[in-house]
Amino acid sequence: MPHYEFFCPTCKKTFSRILALIDWAEGEIPCPYCGSHEVEQVWSAFSLFTSQKCA
Ligand SMILES: [Zn+2]
Repeated sequence: MPHYEFFCPTCKKTFSRILALIDWAEGEIPCPYCGSHEVEQVWSAFSLFTSQKCA
């Protein structure tokens, strides 16, 4: 299952969710801390860095 990371600008926290692509839709992911749907998907810099090191 894909693993997504999100950032909530409202409470300045990041959280991760595991969900299928079909479950992803704009505004459908609530922040687990404040319940806001204004969350942004973030791409893990760590995984990008790791893949670059491996290349
Ligand atoms: Zn929040």
